[in-house]
Parts: sequence; C-alpha cells; structure tokens
Amino acid sequence: MQAAVFHGPGDIRIENVPDPRIQDPTDAVVRITHTAICGSDLWFYRGQQEYQEGWRTGHEPMGVVEAVGNEVRHVKPGDLVLAPFAISDGTCEFCRKGLQTSCLHGNFWARDLDGAQGEAVRAPLADGTLVRIPEHARGDEKLLEALFPLTDVMGTGHHAAVSAGVKEGVTCVVVGDGAVGLCAVLAAKRLGAERVIAIGHHEDRLEKAKAFGATDLIFDRGEGAADEVIEMTRGGADHVLECVGAASSMGMAIRVARPGGTIGYVGVPHGVVEKGLDIMGLFFGNLTLRGGPAPVRAYMPALMEDVLAGTLDPSPVFDMTVDLAGVPDGYAAMDERKALKVLVRV
Ligand SMILES: [Zn+2]
Repeated sequence: MQAAVFHGPGDIRIENVPDPRIQDPTDAVVRITHTAICGSDLWFYRGQQEYQEGWRTGHEPMGVVEAVGNEVRHVKPGDLVLAPFAISDGTCEFCRKGLQTSCLHGNFWARDLDGAQGEAVRAPLADGTLVRIPEHARGDEKLLEALFPLTDVMGTGHHAAVSAGVKEGVTCVVVGDGAVGLCAVLAAKRLGAERVIAIGHHEDRLEKAKAFGATDLIFDRGEGAADEVIEMTRGGADHVLECVGAASSMGMAIRVARPGGTIGYVGVPHGVVEKGLDIMGLFFGNLTLRGGPAPVRAYMPALMEDVLAGTLDPSPVFDMTVDLAGVPDGYAAMDERKALKVLVRV
C-alpha cells in the first residue's frame, strides 16, 4: 500500500510501505478514507522538531475497520470509525479519568507506528482508541467532513475552552487563528461564551473566526493588540484560550488575562522554554495556567452528538482537499500559508 513518508525538512514522499496487519490481539486494521495535515505537522516539516527519515506521518485517522484481533470487542470489520491523535487503552487510571493522552499504555500515531496519511493503519488498542461513527453517516460526505475534525483540532479547541473555564455568559479571548484557534471559537460559543475576542495574524482567518461566532476580531500587527484587548475588556479577560504554543502567543495570553483569570493552553510549546515564559506576569496576576495535550478521546462522544444533531460543524476549517498523491503539495501549501488546513481524501 501507499503512505506518506518523511525524508527530511520539506520532503514528504508518497511511497510503497508494507501493508498493516494484526500484530497484537488488541489491534485493528483500518482502511483510511479521510485524514488531514495538521498545523503541528509543520514543525517537523520545517525542521523545527526532531523527526527521523523514514518515519510515517499523519495523526488524524478516519476510515473503515478491515480486520480486528481476537481480543477486540468494541469494533468489527466494516465499522466506520475515527480515532484521536493519541492511542489509548481506555482502561487505565488516566483513561478512566478522561486523560487518555496520559494513558499508561498509550502512544501516538506515526513516527515508528503507522501514520494516518496513508491507505491504511494498524490501530493498536483498538477498543480504547477507535470510536464508531453511526451507520447513517456512511456516504454522507458533508456529515463525515464535519465529524472528521473531532480526531484532533475540534477536540483540541474544546480542551482550550474547558481548560480556560469557559461557561455561559463569559467573555473570553482566543489567541491564534489556526485551525485549533478557530475550533476554540466554536467550542467557546458552544459552552455559552457571550463575547469571544479572536486574536490572529491573518485577516482572512479572522473572518472565518467571525463566521464561527467570534464577536470581536483583533488583527495582531506585532504590537498594540494586547492593549486593544485590555482596553475593550476593561482590564483583560477571565478566560483566555492559547491555541498556538509559541512563546509570543503564550506571552500574549498572559498579557490579556485579567488578574485572577485562567489560561487554557493546548498548542505544543515550541520555543517557550528557550525564549522564556512570563512567570512574573503569571505570578502577579494570580493567573492559572491549565491545559496540555487534549484528551480528544474523552470529548468525542459529546462533540459527536452535536455534530450528528447538526449544531456543530467545524468542517469550514478545511480550505483545501487533496488525495493521497497530493499530500506533499498539501504540506507545501500549508507551509506557505496558502492553505489553513488540508483535508486528505484517500
Ligand atoms: Zn489508558
């Protein structure tokens, strides 16, 4: 079968790889129908993250179960499924707590495991990892594309909102206009936020944030954006959703947080350790910093219910669709910021 393989910064190739097969009795093999390229894939694509030549890529799998090991109970061949970016057993202390990204037996797609940017994957710990999509969604491409972001970006945006303590009637600030930031806007609205202030570097993406329910848009030109937010909120917001993970966006989140406020942060930190975190700002503001890798698996059932009910649709985050052969072009388009997020229909 064919899959995307990393060969060095800027060099993703589609090539023949061994067909996945059941290795452990808890495995399933999933034939991929939909996957995507994630903003976080750009870190290794740009050489900003250690990644070995020959490693597979992609961590957002959706498809059809082809085979299951003899201990798998929750899915069967033919089932339509999706999976979060984290693999989890569903049974350990942390999985039972809803913190599947800390699963004692967990793992993450790609690297030395199969990557979702390919024709099929071996899915370890299938009972914990795979989530069935109701049969009536089959063939409904619009619905499938609305469900698909639950594999990562929608659950991650939701985690930012939950971690920041967003609830009915609050004012919140979303830092970042990437796919996660846009999903965080959706999530904050879904949780009842009254005012959602979106801060970003791209006017076209901020327009998308507006379509997702942002009430105020702040175009960050390098300076002044934080002051603008502090002024419009008369002192900052109680709930700040940091959706990038860069030192600058963490700094922005701390600046626009109201004393006593909470920052939900979900972007993998890059350069934050090197450039420093404003711990004095956190300290003197009595700010709470909460978050981490989103336990997307824990959020899937509730978010799926809303997508199926037609009240949640994150699919507009995709602005480019490619087939498997188009994956290298998809990376390039995202790297050059010609695309916000690329959907891959395998
Ligand atoms: Zn676990």
